[in-house]
Amino acid sequence: MTLAAGRPYLAIPGPSVMPDAVLQAMHRPAPNIYEGAIVDMVRAMIPDLTAVAGTNNKVAIYIANGHGAWEASLSNIASAGEKVLVCITGRFGNGWAEMAEGLGIVADRLDFGKTDGIDAARLEEALRADTNHDYKAVLFSHVDTATSLLNDPRVLRKALDAAGHPALLMADCIASMGCEEFRMDDWGVDVALTGSQKGLMVPPGLSFVFVSPKAEAVRHAMPRVSRYWDWVPRLDAEFFYQFFGGTAPTHHLYGLRAALDLLHGEGMENVWKRHDTLARAIWAACEAWGSGNGALRMNVQDPALRSHAVTALSLGGKDAARLRAWVAENAGVTLGIGLGMETPEDPRGEGYFRIGHMGHLNAHMVLGMLGTVQAGMQAIGVPYGPGALDAAAAITAV
Ligand SMILES: *Cc1c(COP(=O)(O)O)cnc(C)c1O
Repeated sequence: MTLAAGRPYLAIPGPSVMPDAVLQAMHRPAPNIYEGAIVDMVRAMIPDLTAVAGTNNKVAIYIANGHGAWEASLSNIASAGEKVLVCITGRFGNGWAEMAEGLGIVADRLDFGKTDGIDAARLEEALRADTNHDYKAVLFSHVDTATSLLNDPRVLRKALDAAGHPALLMADCIASMGCEEFRMDDWGVDVALTGSQKGLMVPPGLSFVFVSPKAEAVRHAMPRVSRYWDWVPRLDAEFFYQFFGGTAPTHHLYGLRAALDLLHGEGMENVWKRHDTLARAIWAACEAWGSGNGALRMNVQDPALRSHAVTALSLGGKDAARLRAWVAENAGVTLGIGLGMETPEDPRGEGYFRIGHMGHLNAHMVLGMLGTVQAGMQAIGVPYGPGALDAAAAITAV
């Protein structure tokens, strides 16, 4: 017998669960890309897309995953030999820094560890020390998906302003957009980027770079930018929505239209509140499981620094790997692997796992997933504290 038949829940931090409305919108014949409905649809869709980022800025769309957006954003603001400052709070900040180095950009790293988030005073100090203003940008992950740390963009903006440094503030919002409150314009973020497959609930393959006028000016001062990544033609609505720099990603665009309808039908404030409430239900369960002689620990202790889209957890030994295997095989839930959490004692990071709780997600999915995790801990014989499901239900009940 198996209890895994039925609708599966892919509880990893991206790709996320795709809504039926998105899948159905994509299930259609190929359209004419040169004129007609799809061109009009894209033009009309842009304000709905920028509204998700809380911006009146322009957006460049790429047929790429998040790594593409990383490279796109860097290619437009710095040349080989120029410098950026990267705030690292887990695996993903390092990934962006490595992308910069691949372009010959010098990426100075400020590593803040895996549990405490960005120290604004240290950032300010590093910016003040850059008296020549060599740093063209400060890069950070809004949510680092490996550690599940949430970094408040306003804190970084303040540090830049306090240091009087003109660098662009660039936010990786791949794990956060459509999940966490984000207001690009109000919060003074100069470049924000995301991908289609996390909070936006569309298959992987599209990415988006939102560009402020200040960042546009930096691009215009560049001697050259590689043709594919150059955001100038992509920011030009009249050119781009008709031509897309090549064949338009037709079916992804239909899917995105359906996803934006879902987000704005619910309202962005409500979308953020839903993620907040469901995240708190997960944290309450995790705290209860970790009480007494429970083995489970959340990676981030301070709730103000926790992502509402992903939670990184440790279970010790190789028990996280055993738990993931049990819930996948026996209950139809796929949990995320630990990422960037390797230690000498645990060289493959098998003591860690992650729960993705982003995008198309409701209370019954979260409560079902939590019940399943508890069943899994019971089955593999891991000790856990009492009251987790009660605590999660109490949060969803208010
Ligand atoms: C998923 C993710 C990426 C990488 O995106 P890909 O689409 O896998 O290339 C980068 N940064 C963050 C914060 C992410 O969550």
